[in-house]
This record gives sequence, C-alpha cells and structure tokens, in this order.
Amino acid sequence: MDAPVTETGVVVKLDRGFPLVRLADDRELRCEHATSLVKGSDQRAVVGDNVRISLPDGHDKGIIEETLPRRTSFVRKDPTERALPQTLAANFDLVIVAQPIEDINTRRLERELVLAHETGAEVMVVLTKADLMASPEEVEAVRARIDGFVGNDELLAISDRDEASVQRLAGIIADGDKTAVLIGRSGVGKSSLVNMLVGSEVQKTTEVRGDGKGRHTTVSREIIDLPHGGRIIDMPGVRGLGLWDADEGIGAAFSDIEELAASCRFRDCTHTSEPGCAVRAAVEAGELAPSRLKSYVRLREESAQVKTRREEAERIRSRRGHPRRRR
Ligand code: GDP
Ligand code: ZN
Repeated sequence: MDAPVTETGVVVKLDRGFPLVRLADDRELRCEHATSLVKGSDQRAVVGDNVRISLPDGHDKGIIEETLPRRTSFVRKDPTERALPQTLAANFDLVIVAQPIEDINTRRLERELVLAHETGAEVMVVLTKADLMASPEEVEAVRARIDGFVGNDELLAISDRDEASVQRLAGIIADGDKTAVLIGRSGVGKSSLVNMLVGSEVQKTTEVRGDGKGRHTTVSREIIDLPHGGRIIDMPGVRGLGLWDADEGIGAAFSDIEELAASCRFRDCTHTSEPGCAVRAAVEAGELAPSRLKSYVRLREESAQVKTRREEAERIRSRRGHPRRRR
C-alpha cells in the first residue's frame, strides 16, 4: 500500500477534541490525532500548533501524525503537580494581559505578567473600560500607579466607546502580522474587545453578575483573523493562577531588576537588607519603582515556597514507595 499523502498545516480551532487544521492552500480540514499521539497528552495539538497531517484515502478527516516543535506556548501548571501541565495555545507572538481600569487587581496582574512572560512571547497590558474613568488625568494616574508592575511592557488604555483606542491595539497586532493571545479574568471585556477588533459579533459577551464575577460560555479555542492584519486568540477560563516555581517567568517579567542584580555585592542577594545591593540603590536613586521591587521579592519568595513544598511532597511520596499520583 502507498504511504498516504502528508501535508503541514496550523490548528486554527479546537473544540470537542477535534482540531480544525488550515492547510497551506487555506483549505480547512477537521482532523483527529493519530493513536500514537492520543496517549501522550503533551503531544496533542493545541490552537496555533503546526502539525503534519496525513490524508488517508476514503477518510473524511485528516490524521495528525506529528505536532511540530513550539516556538512559544501557554502552559497551565498545577502547583500541586497532581495534574500534568496542560498546553493551551502555541506559536503566538504577543500576550495581551487585560485588567479593568476601574478595578485593577495588582496581585493578579503580577501573576498574569509572570505567566505571560513565561510563554516566551512579547507582553503588553491593556486596561479596559477606560470610559469609566472621569477624565484623562484619572487614566494617567492609574497608569502611573501600576507602572511599577508593568515595567518595560507596553501599556494601553482602551474602551469599547473609543474606536481610536481599539484601532491603536489593532495596529500593534497588525504590525508584524502578529498572533496575539488575550488573557484576563472573566468580565474584563475580552469578548467585547475581540468583537471590536474584528468589527462584528464573533464572541458572545456576558453580563457581569451582581458579584462582579461574570460568566463564561465559550468552550472552544480558536484563532480569529483580524481585518487589518494579525490574529487573536481569546483565552477564556484561564483560572487559578496559583504560583508554581516560576523562576523563568519572573526573570523575564523583571529583567530590569535581574540586570541590576548582577551588580549586587552578593550573588544570592535577596535585595531586602544586604549591603552593596544595586537593586535597592536603584530604588533609592528613583530609577526603580519601590512597588516593583516589592512585587519581585514577593513573587520570588512565593515561587521558592512552592518549590520547597513540592519537593517535600515528592520526598514523602517516594519514602512511602508510592509512584507519583496523577489525577
Ligand atoms: P469577558 O468575560 O472578558 O469576555 O468580558 P465581556 O466582553 O463579556 O464584557 C463584560 C462586561 O463588560 C459586559 O457587560 C460588557 O458590556 C462590559 N464592557 C466591555 N468592554 C467595556 C468598556 O470598554 N466599557 C464599559 N463601560 N463596559 C465594557
Ligand atoms: Zn541586591
């Protein structure tokens, strides 16, 4: 028997486990995974993945034979390690972290930024619902307040009542034909933003409940082509941003601090009380926001604690002779 034809394509949508793959000639084809990929959950294709597929004769679906190496990826990790890490999207260029301007949760923002930087992509922050601020001065005041958290990442305030603000974001995504991933808690206005970028209702928006939590109905994940160029992936339901040992993400999110730290007298300086600390010197010289250093130190400590707890749990498990439990 002849080997079946193989082609490469991109997973543009994933729902109910069946990837929709766009081929080089723009044809879209429903696919299933080859049996060898079904077992290794990490090899299952996600939105954005480049895949090699075969097209067996007389079969209505393509078969994904291989998921090609990922340039960037968004991975949800379970801090307790009971569940395997889960990749949610791959091969994007920009992560857009959305927070509502009138109710910024800085603790959550710093975690989202670490998570965003850990993907390996560029990162920017979007403050939504800017129309809820009384004046441009008030918008500027919020900006100044969170500048320390955001560091060198780009920051943009937008509103669904201000077309120009949405077009600025559209321009950033279109520049370089980027694929962007949008993250943020439910109710921040992600669906509204995607609809504005597309220019029509492609995502259902949800009324925020009385408790401000909002609901979410989106189940599938897909790459949405934008009219002015580039693409966007809405990432609903990224919950539980618990910290894991996120050293890499923290390092990338706080590269300015890490650069300064190279000049600290002690290599393991914690930048809290050591003499000869270049990071604290920068704060004192007004070159680094104190809130940014505080946030960095806190995240580092939490990350170290998670690591210790996990190693402890592993030791206990191995002493009992139990294999690692997966749920
Ligand atoms: P999602 O859960 O992040 O997708 O958020 P939605 O897009 O569903 O929006 C949640 C709520 O915020 C809806 O009631 C929207 O009408 C409202 N909303 C979204 N964008 C804006 C905005 O720019 N300004 C104001 N005032 N409300 C907005
Ligand atoms: Zn130091």
